[in-house]
Amino acid sequence: MTTWKTIGQDHLVQALGKSLQQDRLSHAYLLVGPPQVGKMTLAMDLARAVNCLDEQKRPCGACRQCQRIEGGIHADVQVIGVETDGRTERLRAEITIDQVRALEQAATLKPYEGACRVFIIDGAERLNLYAANALLKTVEEPPPQVLLLLLTSNEEAIPLTLRSRCQRLGLRPLSLEAVAKLLIDEQGLSQERAQLLGRLSGGRLGWALAATSDSTVIEERTRQLQRLQEVVDGGLEVRFEYARELAAQYGRSRETARQVLGLWLQWWRDLLVLREGSRELVVNLDYLGADHDGALVRMSQQFQTVEMARFASELAATMERLEQNANPRIALDVLMLALPRAAVVAS
Ligand SMILES: [Zn+2]
Repeated sequence: MTTWKTIGQDHLVQALGKSLQQDRLSHAYLLVGPPQVGKMTLAMDLARAVNCLDEQKRPCGACRQCQRIEGGIHADVQVIGVETDGRTERLRAEITIDQVRALEQAATLKPYEGACRVFIIDGAERLNLYAANALLKTVEEPPPQVLLLLLTSNEEAIPLTLRSRCQRLGLRPLSLEAVAKLLIDEQGLSQERAQLLGRLSGGRLGWALAATSDSTVIEERTRQLQRLQEVVDGGLEVRFEYARELAAQYGRSRETARQVLGLWLQWWRDLLVLREGSRELVVNLDYLGADHDGALVRMSQQFQTVEMARFASELAATMERLEQNANPRIALDVLMLALPRAAVVAS
């Protein structure tokens, strides 16, 4: 029966399949889950399902409607997210009210080629307050034949008035074993590679698949971890320079800077875990062995447990502060001041 492309979210697929059958689908859903866990895949499944021509199994994946949606050329399925500012050529921080107004207008029109107009708001936490309020009207009094799908990894950032009017669909990370198994069975990866990507993914299948097909994902991680080691080994000047770099990165793309800090957090968690002798819980498996000179093992011997724990919690607190719009340069300078000095270990 699996014509849904969504994997590992059986609880949702079953419930939605039932609603579809009974023609009792809600007109607005909030899809919640960590980045790259599969929210867009589920949204596209729903878009296909409500437009599919097959009477038995929707989405069938084979009919003209399903295929046009999958090809990204269906006129009634629209994805709305942050756009590039024409003047600065940077990605805007927010989804604007103009974008929502355009959506509202399109929502009043009859579907052009399908049965239902589907609007997917990717990164709904980026709706600014005006945009969220404007959208509220459409969610409260939806035109017929409209399905609104709000995707977010941070639901608390969406005004309660808006999110309480959507039906919530919570997507869960897959087990690390399930991701690894999928990578072996479906992508033909080696056991070792699949284990590594499974752990790095944190159960987010979309991330694991992206890292499988796009080598730059892992190359970028290697570059960032190299930089991390330089910063840990470096003096205050190197560390402040890094804070400046990362703050600038934050200005260009919050998401990228957030990912870098996520790597840092994962790394320090690994150091702690190693130090406590739980090697089997390490995420950055490839930094245990000769490939990267056992960098993880070496560094874990350079700090006291308490130093590592303190810095890891400082990292988490910094990430939290940045989410609450603290000044990135100051927050990152403070973080660098909290970075402990590595002890020289005789080898
Ligand atoms: Zn179909």
